[in-house]
Amino acid sequence: MATFGTLSDRLTETLRNLRTKGKLTAADVDGTVREIRRALLDADVALPVVKEFTAKVRERALGDEVNRALNPAQQVVQIVNDELVGILGGQQRRLQMAKTAPTVIMLAGLQGSGKTTFAGKLAKMLEKDGHTPLLVACDLQRPNAVNQLQVVAERAGAAVYAPEPGNGVGDPVRVARDGVEVARRQQHDVVIIDTAGRLGVDAELMKQASDIRRATDPDEVLFVIDAMIGQDAVNTAKAFQDGVDFTGVVLSKLDGDARGGAALSVASVTGRPIIFASTGEGLEDVEAFHPDRMASRILD
Ligand code: GDP
Repeated sequence: MATFGTLSDRLTETLRNLRTKGKLTAADVDGTVREIRRALLDADVALPVVKEFTAKVRERALGDEVNRALNPAQQVVQIVNDELVGILGGQQRRLQMAKTAPTVIMLAGLQGSGKTTFAGKLAKMLEKDGHTPLLVACDLQRPNAVNQLQVVAERAGAAVYAPEPGNGVGDPVRVARDGVEVARRQQHDVVIIDTAGRLGVDAELMKQASDIRRATDPDEVLFVIDAMIGQDAVNTAKAFQDGVDFTGVVLSKLDGDARGGAALSVASVTGRPIIFASTGEGLEDVEAFHPDRMASRILD
């Protein structure tokens, strides 16, 4: 995974330097914390997240637990690791399934974030677990979007509910509601609703997404965010949180050359867990997100 390349190198190097010291002075800790802060900022991690992170590391690293430790440097490495796991969301969070089928999962995010591709990936993952997902095409904004979802669904071997051709203008809220109804009738146990992407945060489309949410009462609303988006991640995520109150995050394009800022900011800023990471264009390129594994990868 290319993501975190530079950040990972810099943090690893900073902590390696620390390991060469026996006893740590307050100046050693401060120097380390300063380097961590710089590395995080250079990786586009949001400032409030950086501040909170470094303050916690500093406080714990200067505190009793390190003073008493046999190997103080090792202890600081552990603290950095723990705090990284914390900003990535702590515990792994699995997809919530409805007690009574169908489970409704709605996807939202900017255009090009990887929503439609993720819809196919999710369908495929669910099928492997014995589910029978129905993909619902509610992106009636972009001329080719319905067709694109159909192609993705075919690759995933999943069924699609879409408005009739020629009827493309349609009402996405109705399509979503009908889609859930069709799933119930045809005994699909999961419904995946793909919604219209937008280039920027767009009030009209946000209202449409919010109306779809209200009409279908989803078990999960997943916000798909491109890990390459950098500093815009926080504002975009907050706008979608206000607009559709998402329940979880999908980080896409983690295979790309992203600096890691989005990944390291979004869970912390929104308080919503990252549930999946997308790592390529193929339908297999997706994994459940584990904060602890991601932190170890960064500090490897
Ligand atoms: P949507 O507009 O949000 O539905 O985004 P799409 O699913 O159409 O994805 C936009 C582009 O990003 C497409 O060219 C996808 O093949 C590509 N893409 C999606 N997910 C990933 C990913 O995890 N990694 C990479 N490298 N490309 C991706």
